[in-house]
Amino acid sequence: MTDTLPDIYRPDQVEAKWRARWAERATNAPDLDRAARPFYNLMMFPYPSAEGLHVGNMFAFTGSDVYGRYKRLRGFDVFEPIGFDAFGIHSENYAIKVGKHPAELIPQNIANFRRQLERIGGMFDWRHALSTTDPAYYKWTQWIFLQLFQAGKAYKKKAAVNWCPFDKTVLANEQVENGLCERCGTPVEQRLLEQWFFRITDYADRLLANLDTIDWSETTITAQRNWLGRSEGAELRFDVPGGGEAITVFTTRPDTLFGATFMVLAPEHPLVSRLTTPDRRGEVEAYVKAAAAKDLVSRKVGEKDKSGVFIGAMATNPATGKAIPVWIADYVLMEYGTGAIMAVPGHDERDFAFARRYGLGIVRVLAGPGQTAATPLEAAETETDGRRLVNSGRFDGMLADQAKGEITREMASLGRGRTVVQYRLHDWCISRQRYWGPPIPVIYCDACGTVPVPERDLPVLLPPIEDFRPDDSGVSPLARHEEWYYVPCPRCGKRARRETDVSDTFLDSAWYYLRYPSTEFDDRPFDPARTRRWCPVATYIGGNEHAVLHLLYSRFLAMVLKDLGQLDFEEPFTRFRAHGLIVKDGAKMSKSRGNVVIPDEYIAEWGADTFRMYLMFLGPLQEGGDFREAGINGPRRFLDRVWNLVVEADEGGELRKDLVVRWHATKKKVAEDIEALHYNTAIAALMELVNHMKEAGCRDRAVVQDLVVMLSPFAPHFAEECWERLRHGSTVFDAGWPSWDEKLTVADQIELPVQVGGKTRSRIQAPREASEDEATRAALADPTVQRFISGKPVVKVIYVKGRLINFVLGG
Ligand SMILES: [Zn+2]
Ligand SMILES: [Zn+2]
Repeated sequence: MTDTLPDIYRPDQVEAKWRARWAERATNAPDLDRAARPFYNLMMFPYPSAEGLHVGNMFAFTGSDVYGRYKRLRGFDVFEPIGFDAFGIHSENYAIKVGKHPAELIPQNIANFRRQLERIGGMFDWRHALSTTDPAYYKWTQWIFLQLFQAGKAYKKKAAVNWCPFDKTVLANEQVENGLCERCGTPVEQRLLEQWFFRITDYADRLLANLDTIDWSETTITAQRNWLGRSEGAELRFDVPGGGEAITVFTTRPDTLFGATFMVLAPEHPLVSRLTTPDRRGEVEAYVKAAAAKDLVSRKVGEKDKSGVFIGAMATNPATGKAIPVWIADYVLMEYGTGAIMAVPGHDERDFAFARRYGLGIVRVLAGPGQTAATPLEAAETETDGRRLVNSGRFDGMLADQAKGEITREMASLGRGRTVVQYRLHDWCISRQRYWGPPIPVIYCDACGTVPVPERDLPVLLPPIEDFRPDDSGVSPLARHEEWYYVPCPRCGKRARRETDVSDTFLDSAWYYLRYPSTEFDDRPFDPARTRRWCPVATYIGGNEHAVLHLLYSRFLAMVLKDLGQLDFEEPFTRFRAHGLIVKDGAKMSKSRGNVVIPDEYIAEWGADTFRMYLMFLGPLQEGGDFREAGINGPRRFLDRVWNLVVEADEGGELRKDLVVRWHATKKKVAEDIEALHYNTAIAALMELVNHMKEAGCRDRAVVQDLVVMLSPFAPHFAEECWERLRHGSTVFDAGWPSWDEKLTVADQIELPVQVGGKTRSRIQAPREASEDEATRAALADPTVQRFISGKPVVKVIYVKGRLINFVLGG
């Protein structure tokens, strides 16, 4: 302890001192094996870009850190780890751009990120920091691949994929915007490549059902539900007379079966070549070729005018017995349903447009109030509510919703259909034809086939090759590295070849939370006892842009690992909260807009604590806020005032009743606000307490002490210094949250008469001990009082505490 501290708050000195103390005393390192009340506080680990962390990242990390520190004050043993999601195409592309090797560039970026993260004062347990690029980490990423492979949950197949010719990589559908690559804006092509997939679709039911059991932000739950895209419907079989073939379709609208007047196959459908008649072959083949050149996303949504070609074949509508023509069109995709549809132009917009364009039959099979079977259709009528069937044989007059089940049952009894549940979700494509990722641990042997790399041979190290750039071949650069590529087969010893694809970055991040508590073990991915103590994660805070990829993949992997006996839970994140975004000049911060704010200079000028307070004061964590540089001196002035209170703290005497109420009410309110992540209002309440203390001339040590503790999640270094100055023990974070007396949190309320110009015009509820400011604010907020003042200037306020308030008007 020292008494030589200046009486002026000097953030640079205070913060450097406490960063060193925390490291030296292991303040932020809980006992992972013995913690009695473990609380795993997780934030989404950063992707270490060259630019460093920007203000948006700091907002998210600080928001999570405030929560972790608060939980610690509530008596939990909080584990708050951090790491680096450092593999992937972003770093690789940046390395290519600046002409450096990612293996050289990434460690520099990580060092810079670490410096920034330490500077902001997060309660990070640095002993357990990790990077996904570390062989000690990706050894286990490869191990996870092997677990899935051995369980039959990983498979390889040729798939049509979106290919960016500039980035020379496969893109997920959500990385394609209007047919252009989201990263570089190049038009996306379609390619057929061999890819590794994980069978996430096997888990669709569970992924959906469990959404009801986890405490997550509603927006995230909704995004996952939509992404899973469950629909119940029917699979129906349409015979094609002649060759003994049949076309199977999936439909969510079996009620409209009688209105199916033609069928459409995806151009890639295997039946196309078998069913096409000789006279149609030339045109059909040309169309198939053109469709193959388009990217999948524009095929799905991008085009208004749906084009197609008749293939010459006719199918039989199983309900009407009528022959209907079979077409191909690129708006039908192999990836969804069966790759074939029954077209019901009367009640589907796309089919209506298509039928109009090509002169195909349109039949009404649903009629609403005031409509009959003969009412003409001006457009597709997709509504079902209250609609009854028409032109549908014995089903006429039945409500559409009821007919769905009835018609499916009828088709099932005829052996022509069955009820099925479908999901929009696809299997997870985890292979990337790039360099900067963990090699997929598989070996191909001419004699033994596909052989997994034995666990004892993990990790399959990413070889340090100079020429890591992707080329046009669609094959990973690793294939060019012969020494690495050829390897003895683990089964027969003959010369075999390594898999040259690396795995998706989302695989790295789908399990990182399991590794954090167990980073020191190199013989197991996650220690069972540690995992039981700390997992699942108690609270996870992160961006909603990861709602459907990272968060869904993490859930899926936990389910698989649970089924394999590796985990005893299947939902990795008990509570998830999506944080809001920091905007600048009304727009989301982005490099292309040039409005990205780098925090370093602000921290250097104002200190990390002031900057943290400023960020948390911008708005509720889940909503974000607008970054305005001008506002930052407010929190700084506030900290200076608290500093002075600490310097001048005395034993006081009897506290004023109104201040006691304020004190207790603040302890309660700040706790509740932090728990709800309403940090901005928590800070406002602390500011009001300080105002109240000043007004009451209070510097009472007990109140000042509680103030310091309540402030500590927001301004940790500052609070530590104050705590020491108040002659307390090693860290304020062991102090515990100040308790409050519920009875004392409510002020003694009275009905205060409000006069305007000496006449009583209204009565308001106010604390008996309300200050003049408080009473004035409350009275002026009263609509009746406002009406009597009616915009005239108040020249004088007469306040008699507990008796009345009177506004004297001018003019
Ligand atoms: Zn691109
Ligand atoms: Zn072999």
